Amino acid sequence: MFDKVIRNGKVFIAGEFVKTNVYIEKEVIAKITPEVLSAKESIDVNNALVIPALIDPHVHFHLDLGSIHSRDDFYSGTLQAVYGGITTVIDFLDPVDNPVDLEKAYYRRLDEAKTSVCDYSFHATIKNPNCDLEEFVIKMKSLGINSLKLFTTYSDSNRRTYDNQIIELLKLSSKYDFLLLAHIENDNLIDLNPNFKYNCLLKSRPTLAETKEALKLAAFTEINGGYLYMVHLSSGITLEKLKKDFPSLINKRFFIESCPQYFAFTNDFLEREDGYLYTLAPPLRTRRERTLLKENFNDVFSVGTDHCAFNKKDKDRKYLKDIPLGIGGIENSFDVLYEFFKEKAIDKMSKNIASLYPNLVGRGEIKEGNLANLFIYELYDNFISKHHGKTDCFLYDNFKRSGETVHTMNRGEFIIKNREFIKSVSKKV
Ligand SMILES: [Zn+2]
Repeated sequence: MFDKVIRNGKVFIAGEFVKTNVYIEKEVIAKITPEVLSAKESIDVNNALVIPALIDPHVHFHLDLGSIHSRDDFYSGTLQAVYGGITTVIDFLDPVDNPVDLEKAYYRRLDEAKTSVCDYSFHATIKNPNCDLEEFVIKMKSLGINSLKLFTTYSDSNRRTYDNQIIELLKLSSKYDFLLLAHIENDNLIDLNPNFKYNCLLKSRPTLAETKEALKLAAFTEINGGYLYMVHLSSGITLEKLKKDFPSLINKRFFIESCPQYFAFTNDFLEREDGYLYTLAPPLRTRRERTLLKENFNDVFSVGTDHCAFNKKDKDRKYLKDIPLGIGGIENSFDVLYEFFKEKAIDKMSKNIASLYPNLVGRGEIKEGNLANLFIYELYDNFISKHHGKTDCFLYDNFKRSGETVHTMNRGEFIIKNREFIKSVSKKV
């Protein structure tokens, strides 16, 4: 007898929905079959979608920005995640420039993450490194971390990693088999004019800064080898140019992540009276760039949320320089992507991400032997109306969606059942 069965679902298997039953034994998917077999607990989902639990590879919970922390901590951040069908999140360690501080940053974050209600993992983050890079990488690997994020910008806060160091890190990424993540904007093309108001964000961080730097880093990757993952690609122009110049590199050794907000919003929102709420880096782009991004969705490898939530009063500042950049949205990331792209969104939020990380083996796909990580999405037209985070800033309020997450299961246990939070199922992976 099996422990549980999810019956009568349309189960997402190898790229399509199949009417079948999913039998679960302890943490694992034991059998997938339309046959009716006995199980201790049976959940009839009545034709709802059964989807692999999603993985969000890009979140910022309780991010330290000096004068302020992002408002969702690991508890409120992951609570929203599981209400949105996500059961694994990858957050970032604080940026450091040497191996000793890296170890401290790891244990600090490990302690903060204990309140998570789902599984979690970390990327290391490097800033203007001041050490032997190979020693840094060896320390990172010894902590069980397989991804390292750098910034090509933010020299103003001493976070920029310079070209010669990026090249060395790329070479190390193939030698030590880790993924190099990059926040890509050309530092010299960013204008931090202190008199800019929030509606000057596009002038401050133009598309050219993203496109030019992305092409440069793709060339570095092509020449030097290694694995690079571009976080939060914002503009369809950047994506088209990358495809044109590096067709054999894209999503093989140079992976492209985008975020729900670049599909949902445009820079028009910055002209609104509450436009300061829509400030993030890189910024929301023009309608044309968003259209291009949507048209090229097939070439987006993965979707991460870059969830970095603040309250309205945190962001209500006269000058751009005083506004903490970032928005929330983890709870509704699937709603948004499914609305635009239907099942094409699923692999980019699950399987593709798992394929990049050795510690995520057994996640991201519904198949026998994999972890029983899945969520049930009931289809009916409705509007997003609430979230379970800590902030009062909710940009997806009233956004149209085609369904809702009703159950979320992690490693064979329900975290969300019938739209209610049941219990935490959480570990560091
Ligand atoms: Zn980010």
